[in-house]
Amino acid sequence: VRSFARRMQGLPAPATIEMARRARALRAEGKQVISLALGEPDFPTPAAVVEAAHQAALAGQTKYPPVDGTPALKAAVARKFSRENGLDYAPDEIMVSNGGKQVIFNAFMATLNDGDEVVVPAPYWVSYPLIARMFGGVPVYAPCREEDGFRLKAEALAAAMTPRTRWVVLNFPNNPTGAVCEQADLHAVAEVLRQYPDVWILSDEIYEHLVFDGVQSASIAAVAPDLKDRTITLNGVSKAYAMTGWRVGFAGGPKDLIAAMRGVQGNATSGICTIAQAAAAAALDGPADLVRTMAETYSRRRKMVVEALRAVPGLTCAMPEGAFYAYPGVAGCLGRTTAGGTRLETDHDFAVALLEEAHVATVPGSAFGLSPYLRLSCATRDEDLKEACTRIARFVDDLH
Ligand code: PLP
Repeated sequence: VRSFARRMQGLPAPATIEMARRARALRAEGKQVISLALGEPDFPTPAAVVEAAHQAALAGQTKYPPVDGTPALKAAVARKFSRENGLDYAPDEIMVSNGGKQVIFNAFMATLNDGDEVVVPAPYWVSYPLIARMFGGVPVYAPCREEDGFRLKAEALAAAMTPRTRWVVLNFPNNPTGAVCEQADLHAVAEVLRQYPDVWILSDEIYEHLVFDGVQSASIAAVAPDLKDRTITLNGVSKAYAMTGWRVGFAGGPKDLIAAMRGVQGNATSGICTIAQAAAAAALDGPADLVRTMAETYSRRRKMVVEALRAVPGLTCAMPEGAFYAYPGVAGCLGRTTAGGTRLETDHDFAVALLEEAHVATVPGSAFGLSPYLRLSCATRDEDLKEACTRIARFVDDLH
């Protein structure tokens, strides 16, 4: 009998992966599948960033790096936090990881004991509860309702807190809803957090530059400086600079927690690819107009998608304030039957039937903890987005 660790038991495969697998299978049958399932920018990495990596490799930056990041990248990260977030971090308060995802892994592994609760506003990026569970953590959800623009309300957070709470996760702009927490929202959230002085705070700000219509994203550690000493501010280059494959993320936080996270990472990876770190430093120190151009493109596409979906009877769609997803509601389609004869009971049924009958891959809201919705990625070419909306409209039109 082969045996696996108890910590792996009951860990579900994320629905994002399941939808991608089904989409690949249909493609292999020759179907023209449009995938809006993945959160990956369709832009190329900026040429100057690729050139910086090339130069770093030629210059011999090809040996083991310090576990927590090269001095050059850590200095660029410190400048970024100071310039863009009003946060000052010393070198021993910063670490670089294999993507923002490893920051979360390091932080939870370094702090969670069995039964510790991790409060996650829902809907949420699937990795927070999954990583928490790997280390014995128990996810507890604070619902963010569509009526509130999917923003986190202080009352919802307060209701989720218990004496066992070890972490509170904040992710604004949010994946999957695009909701942003502005300064006033964060002040209210900070008031709740002050009542729990032993709780760590993870602020995942990876979509911070993708905000629209004058909405302003803010960092909790800057809005509430008294919380900075227990906050990990997470960011990275994947989304802002179209660098998902380079695997560079980073964090600022208190010295003792960063040291514990460095201990985890030293055993896991011995540090991050030096060439990718040189590229990330060039991205952070490079011109800001690239990020602005991408944000404008996502904003335009989001409007196009929201307008197209709102015109479909049976669908609703809030206008996202940030990130690059749309999160339409499908409540009006449940209980009905597709042209192919499938009765739709849940958003998962909807997403599977939409893929199988209309060949559009999305992810059901159930994967993110708030149903019945679908998540569509707008980090997709205009032509594909338009065609996907046409197919979705036809699919819903054909319901009976
Ligand atoms: N945080 C959020 C909310 C995300 O959506 C993602 C990626 O999908 C990440 C963090 C991690 O990105 P990376 O590990 O590529 O830096």
